[in-house]
Amino acid sequence: MTEKGKKLYEGKAKILYETEDPNWLLVEFKDAATAFDGKKRGIIEGKGVHNNRLSAFFFAYLTRNGIPTHYVRQLSDREMLVRRLEIIKVEVVMRNVVAGSLAKRLGLPEGTVLDEPVLEHYYKSDELGDPMINQYHIRALRLATEEEMTEISRLAFRINDLLRAFLSPRNLDLIDFKLEFGRDEGKIVLGDEISPDTCRFWDTKSGERLDKDRFRRDLGGVEEAYQEVVRRVTGT
Ligand code: UDP
Repeated sequence: MTEKGKKLYEGKAKILYETEDPNWLLVEFKDAATAFDGKKRGIIEGKGVHNNRLSAFFFAYLTRNGIPTHYVRQLSDREMLVRRLEIIKVEVVMRNVVAGSLAKRLGLPEGTVLDEPVLEHYYKSDELGDPMINQYHIRALRLATEEEMTEISRLAFRINDLLRAFLSPRNLDLIDFKLEFGRDEGKIVLGDEISPDTCRFWDTKSGERLDKDRFRRDLGGVEEAYQEVVRRVTGT
């Protein structure tokens, strides 16, 4: 049995609790959804259940393929047990196809296929709205060492390859996604979540968006999109 202890932190989409083991935390996935730095708020019915399921599934798949993750096991439909990490305040975004902020920044149409994957870094700060940073900012601010960032980049490219290989036969194009890493006894480990909140998934044939952009852009069919990703990924 894992006891749900003191609430450590409540974020926009997840709540973190302590457990009886100081090395483990309990993550509870919420239905609450935000976009545009919290300016748009709403509820996506069932999202917490879907994102818990998908994150657990992807973490297990990545673990089987040699990626260290914080995932321990699923506890209930909305809860998972994870290793406690010392979070590195750098968000890593990997892009295969132009969408979202990259389309705006470079003036390229969404859907433009990139000749090779593009990796970006953002400073994890809600107050500042996660500004984009580069390796020099990361070093100067002592957010992570050069060796840690080399390992993070290596893992991010490998995760991209693994996720694309898994999703492509399921007719899902992985457009882009965001990862967060932390330290666990000095080792770099993947944390956070992998879900339609943090990835862009497009249907391979129709190009239909099956991710949080349906909420961000009021496209309708939000719950159905999350459910469809669960169906294709887990086969249920
Ligand atoms: N993303 C995220 N959290 C953030 C910002 C981005 O999970 O705070 C994900 C987003 O879902 C997308 C990718 O990172 O899959 C790239 O997002 P982008 O920079 O295009 O920003 P957006 O258009 O979402 O503002």
